[in-house]
Amino acid sequence: MERTILHCDLNNFYASVACAERPALKTRPVAVCGSQDNRQGIVLAKNEPAKRFGIATGDVIWQARQKCPGLVVLPPDFPKYALLSRKIRAVYQQYTDLVEPFGIDECWLDVTGSTSLFGSGERIACEVKDRIRQEFGITASVGVSFNKIFAKLGSDLKKPDAVTVIGPGTFRQQIWKLPAGDLLGVGRATLRRLSASGIFTIGDIAQADPRFLKRLLGKNGLTLHQYANGRDLSPVRYMDRRPPVKSIGHSATCKSDLQTDEEVWKALLQLADDVCARLRAAGFRAGGVCLYLRDSALAAREFQSALRVPTSLGTELADSAFALFRAHWRWPLPIRALGVRAVSLLPAEAGAQTSLFDDAARRAKREALARSADGLRARFGADTVRRAVLLTEDKLPPAIPEKDCVLPNAFF
Ligand SMILES: [Mg+2]
Repeated sequence: MERTILHCDLNNFYASVACAERPALKTRPVAVCGSQDNRQGIVLAKNEPAKRFGIATGDVIWQARQKCPGLVVLPPDFPKYALLSRKIRAVYQQYTDLVEPFGIDECWLDVTGSTSLFGSGERIACEVKDRIRQEFGITASVGVSFNKIFAKLGSDLKKPDAVTVIGPGTFRQQIWKLPAGDLLGVGRATLRRLSASGIFTIGDIAQADPRFLKRLLGKNGLTLHQYANGRDLSPVRYMDRRPPVKSIGHSATCKSDLQTDEEVWKALLQLADDVCARLRAAGFRAGGVCLYLRDSALAAREFQSALRVPTSLGTELADSAFALFRAHWRWPLPIRALGVRAVSLLPAEAGAQTSLFDDAARRAKREALARSADGLRARFGADTVRRAVLLTEDKLPPAIPEKDCVLPNAFF
């Protein structure tokens, strides 16, 4: 049976929330920007008037101000976005229990089973978008199609405050002319390879020989060929069913560039401590570590190695990351940003093979100590327990660094 799937995308979400609260801002150019004191002062979202000045997400604040001197710059309010996002998902859930979030401002809805109650997919889409506008003062664009990939494409085609239907009989005319990069799953590296082979549009992908795409891109080539031809069968997942976490990482842009081994070691320790606190909270140990480095010329490199013994201890993860650093980094190029990621995660309770030289009792004690510190930080604040080595001036920003969890490819 043909499915009816909606993809709802809240337009300019952060900026819309700000404008919904202060309607006087609606006609003025507004940008929500990251903090100005460390180097994260970039545009996170902008409203329609700001867009007309050419302001783009990722612009540095001074650039944005140059384009538009009257720009209203506001700080982000993440707790408010999370609250509103939950309330809006509750609206979606009145139409179907199959609601799958994709980021904070996007959701897929499978309404196949609801059309006899609420009308066609297009009708539900219009109703949902109108309700969001009336109840929350925020516009949404909705794509309606027979699979998730095309529904997502549809929500991008017309915005703001619009509904786009992509049907099985019309998708070739509607989307084959779009650039290949618009298709979900085509990242920058893939796009480069495709265009080097003369493949520029979604239609080019659809009409390419799948064997050629497989040689060019591996398994992903076949997936993209299926997507472009409307043969995406992936289900909309229930909201509360979370896919398993594949890795846990933490990265940060430094307040000033790192110049010495010692500075790098301190930063790695701080990042690894944060990663390991999250590993322990989630009940994992790391089987490997991945180190990410970006130099002051903004070139990025990544290194990975397996750990001798799986760990959830910050010092051990930092040790391995530092060993990678020593093996691969050549000074004098200063380091602008760095990250530590725990990979090959294992459940903490799984018996790990211990090394001959490893003192199991000592490790157990250190893990117990780390857990106690986690408990203190949870009760009394993040800075309650700190390593002495990190008490001196550190170069990581005090704000929450960029956290991320990587989910398996099967996510969508
Ligand atoms: Mg959006």
